[in-house]
Amino acid sequence: MEFEAVIGLEVHAHLSTQSKIFCSCPATYGALPNTQVCPVCLGMPGVLPVLNKTVVEYAMRMALAVDCQVAEHSVFARKNYFYPDLPKNYQISQYENPLAEHGKIEIETAAGRKRVGITRIHMEEDAGKLTHDGAKSRVDLNRTGVPLIEIVSEPDMSTPEEAGAYLRKLHAILRYLDICDGNMEQGSFRCDANVSVRRKGEKALGTRAELKNMNSFKNVERGLAFEINRQTAICAEGGVVVQETRLFDATSGRTEPMRGKEEAHDYRYFPDPDLVPLRVDQTWKEQVRSSLPELPDAKKERFVAQYGLSAYDAEVLTAERAVAEYFEACVSHVNNPKQAANWITGPLFSVMNQKGVGIGDVPVRAEALAQLIGLTDSGVISGKIAKTVFDLILETGRQPRDIVEEKGLTQVSDSSELEAAVDAVIAESPAEVEAYKGGKKKLMGFFVGQVMKRTKGKANPQMVNELIVKKLGS
Ligand code: ADP
Ligand code: MG
Ligand code: ZN
Repeated sequence: MEFEAVIGLEVHAHLSTQSKIFCSCPATYGALPNTQVCPVCLGMPGVLPVLNKTVVEYAMRMALAVDCQVAEHSVFARKNYFYPDLPKNYQISQYENPLAEHGKIEIETAAGRKRVGITRIHMEEDAGKLTHDGAKSRVDLNRTGVPLIEIVSEPDMSTPEEAGAYLRKLHAILRYLDICDGNMEQGSFRCDANVSVRRKGEKALGTRAELKNMNSFKNVERGLAFEINRQTAICAEGGVVVQETRLFDATSGRTEPMRGKEEAHDYRYFPDPDLVPLRVDQTWKEQVRSSLPELPDAKKERFVAQYGLSAYDAEVLTAERAVAEYFEACVSHVNNPKQAANWITGPLFSVMNQKGVGIGDVPVRAEALAQLIGLTDSGVISGKIAKTVFDLILETGRQPRDIVEEKGLTQVSDSSELEAAVDAVIAESPAEVEAYKGGKKKLMGFFVGQVMKRTKGKANPQMVNELIVKKLGS
């Protein structure tokens, strides 16, 4: 335990604007290759880029949401390199004067809350996409010019779990702000992870490796864990870690060298003469700030205070804005936050996982779930039957009340009917009755279960309990 890891992350997020950053081509994903291109994003000679104002607004939303200082003046720069997937052979990015700097987010760690600094957030254009197929390579330029923000963190994290928590939080904020769809498989949210190790107590940073090619939170954590072990082993033997870029292989869980420091590119950045410096005045900034929604941390705190939820439930319910809104719609109809939380994080999430859909696509709407909770709370149906009704809503999309009525699922609270069922169960289970009377009180569960079976789950469990105690003693 004499070494510790230091982790800093670079995240690229696609902004979900309608058009690209410097031309009016659509920025949408999935079109036929090379159908969403024009002379500007194809890098034809003599064209001029025109900055998309919505891109700046979206980038500012993120910057303000994570407490960055937004620069009054920022500058677009050319990052020069031979890019087979970017015909201009330079990428328009920001370098010395980025849009925003000095932000932070907070994450929950095993040791409590931790602050992770955001070094900078800048805007840039994405490159196209190459696909390699044997000896052939193909290029799709639909993605050239799709707007990105790059979010660079301080090297403030020290475990793969912290890096995972940071990424999940960034992801949640981007989704709350409605500026990025967050789809990691489609590359809308990508992460490069920088990691080094050093002897505990040491101040200076060790030599880092930069990991690429991790397309899920889990894989970022796996890649980092592997790399920390690899570097620690080298240092423990007195060796030296070399600075390099490494690729993560999800199948083997290992990282392999991709290029070393010597092969690092010299991008020869310089201000793009085709674009004037970007000016953001106070009024614009304040306009954007006042349009920000309630963010995950604030919502989580409010859920604990207002609904008496556990920190855990509140965290889970606020990770996605649509889920939080579903929860609030539900409790606005029925005042039972705990039950609403249980239904959402239990049965509803499992439907979402099974079908791979968001909460908006589950056929059980918030009002229907509220009605179902209401029917249980008022004793019309038992908790057990409620699950059956839930499944029927899923199948039919009908109202819980109608389902209960039509299928005759109302809970049996009629004492003579229940008494008959209890008597029958006692009569057919002499051995269990004997054992129960002899002190095996655990058998209460057996009796209740049998009565439930006879009544098809409709018996009021509390009344059944009382009846059994009355008949067999407590
Ligand atoms: P580059 O653009 O060349 O990758 P940056 O200086 O912008 O370099 O750093 C990128 C990321 O690497 C940042 O998130 C930063 O926190 C992190 N980082 C820098 N040095 C180290 C280090 N020695 N160990 C771990 N992370 C580091
Ligand atoms: Mg880097
Ligand atoms: Zn274009």
